[in-house]
Amino acid sequence: MKNTAVKTDLETQWKHIQARLLDEYGEATYSSWLKPLSFVDHHEDCVRLAAPNAFMRDWVTNHYAERVKTILQSENQHIQQLEVIVNSPLEGASPSEEPFLDTPEVGSNLDPRFTFTNFIVGKPNELAHAAALKVAESAVVTFNPLFLYGGVGLGKTHLMHAIAWHIKKCHPNRKVIYLSAEKFMYQFIRALRFKDTVAFKEQFRSVDVLMIDDVQFISGKDSTQEEFFHTFNAIVDQNHQIIISADKSPSDLEGMEERLKSRLGWGLVADIHPTTYELRLGILQAKADQMGTDVPQKVLEFLAHKISSNIRELEGALTRVVAHSTLIGRDITLESTQDLLRDLLRANDRRVTIDEIQKKVAEYYSVRISDMHSPRRARAVARPRQIAMYLAKQFTQRSLPEIGRKFGGRDHTTVLHAVKKVEELMGKEKSICEDIELLRRTLEG
Ligand code: ADP
Ligand code: MG
Repeated sequence: MKNTAVKTDLETQWKHIQARLLDEYGEATYSSWLKPLSFVDHHEDCVRLAAPNAFMRDWVTNHYAERVKTILQSENQHIQQLEVIVNSPLEGASPSEEPFLDTPEVGSNLDPRFTFTNFIVGKPNELAHAAALKVAESAVVTFNPLFLYGGVGLGKTHLMHAIAWHIKKCHPNRKVIYLSAEKFMYQFIRALRFKDTVAFKEQFRSVDVLMIDDVQFISGKDSTQEEFFHTFNAIVDQNHQIIISADKSPSDLEGMEERLKSRLGWGLVADIHPTTYELRLGILQAKADQMGTDVPQKVLEFLAHKISSNIRELEGALTRVVAHSTLIGRDITLESTQDLLRDLLRANDRRVTIDEIQKKVAEYYSVRISDMHSPRRARAVARPRQIAMYLAKQFTQRSLPEIGRKFGGRDHTTVLHAVKKVEELMGKEKSICEDIELLRRTLEG
């Protein structure tokens, strides 16, 4: 007999576990392999999860089951076994509720949040956004392929899903397939294994719009590239739309066949640049509004300033701040934010060295770098040196004695004195504040 109470418990926890898996494996892997898993039941020390088909069951069992089990155990220590079964209505397991795009085998799920409405446009992504919108809206094929590229977490997948959603809504008859290159490859391998390549080819070649995300995944995978090349040509020949994303431009993709690289660059190539402060702030404001939480402007500005790596991290930081304040029922403040995100902020701090600080400060005040180490006490060199010490304290993890050593073997009390002096000056001289702000910006790059 099933233990219903525990089952309900674990069922609830399953949502939580899924969130952890998404966090660990990232969007692409999660939505291909882990999101489609559903919770079936829990009997004694065994938990059963269901996958939509046998192929996915095997893949998940071989690649992810150990990790999933460990996470399950951390939620419920009685669990000893994890079994992944095929989701079959006969067994009474609920079929996956995820809406597949067109064919359940090929389509990957679309994230409901990834729409054009939720996409904030700024200088770094305006070209990619305009191109995506054009492809989504136009009835005829304008550029083929549309090739979107940019670094991790800058919105490539978001834009592709947005195109798919838009077409689904405005042209429900058009057949759209969105999938990662990783999934394309596994589908292909499976087709080979089950001697089913004809159906595989048919499936892709009959679409109106084919979107392949993260195409760099098939770098170095020759037979998949070969198959992809043929699929690509067949679709272009029919004048149907292809949309591709990658982390690099077509010509920079290593391990790709020349003829494929050249084909990929045939249409419109649009890159997404690293974010700017303004775009980050705009995104944070929009997300905070969506969450319906009052986040002080100061906190948003702080996050936009500090977390410049990518938008995924930025969102993650905001979510953490909001969740924390909701949980403990206290208002969000700059202090609580700094405290909560200490690790993340440290990772985002660009590593600035004392040498770099000395060089920039010397340039800024037109003194020699050697003056940073020299015993000269003339104000014209002593003040810049103090400012450099202050910045070294602010920007590096170095201790006062270490900093002193880098400044011509000065004592740690001299460094401490310099830090205090600069803080004091900042309190009364506006020009010092401006100097420091400018230096800080050049150092943060
Ligand atoms: P990529 O595919 O380039 O690695 P994603 O599309 O997965 O990046 O984006 C990472 C996260 O950042 C997603 O949650 C996405 O919604 C969000 N995001 C990216 N760009 C924007 C933007 N311009 N406006 C709002 N959210 C964005
Ligand atoms: Mg992506």
